[in-house]
Amino acid sequence: MQELEERIQAEGTVKAGDVLKVDAFLNHQCDVRLFDHMGAAWAEHFAGKTITKILTIEASGIGIACCAARHFGDVPVVFAKKAQSINLDGDQYTTTVYSFTKQKEFPVIVSKKYLNPGDHVLLIDDFLANGKALRGLIELCGKAGATVEGIGIAVEKGFQGGGDSLRAEGYDVDSLAIVESMDPETGKIEFRH
Ligand code: 5GP
Repeated sequence: MQELEERIQAEGTVKAGDVLKVDAFLNHQCDVRLFDHMGAAWAEHFAGKTITKILTIEASGIGIACCAARHFGDVPVVFAKKAQSINLDGDQYTTTVYSFTKQKEFPVIVSKKYLNPGDHVLLIDDFLANGKALRGLIELCGKAGATVEGIGIAVEKGFQGGGDSLRAEGYDVDSLAIVESMDPETGKIEFRH
């Protein structure tokens, strides 16, 4: 998606440790017009698939998922919550996710009320790096008996391989910008096309 690539080039900054900061429009300040265009792009890619729900993970996935939902017939958006601890009373699906940015594992939960066996789910997230966050969401869908229809990502860091592994397993991953390389010294960012 050219508009997103241009914004990354103009406003993104490359940090040490393979971190791309796009706080100006995605991870702190939110450009909802851009989010709307991202939702339209995913709707075009996943046209023809039945989507009954969008599942994302707090916090940065929520805004883009809500804008995307407007392009998928206003389906409900559910966000997996990052919990302090797992409560085992049985009313929620749980897993653990290793956080790329925080470099630690944390529990993630979704209430059984909001993810069901009949659901056809589109997973949405802001970044795809090694794929741990998505693996957690896929596991939650598996526990609920829901079907993962596709994965919509704003920015994939292609050089970290998470997206390619998921594609190799048959998941339909639509990343709107795929960063092929980025250099914290020069700030140079190159995209895959
Ligand atoms: P993964 O689980 O695929 O390794 O990493 C994806 C998650 O980590 C995303 O949910 C995102 O919040 C965070 N993340 C990974 N890489 C970056 C990055 O370069 N920049 C930002 N802002 N977040 C990232």
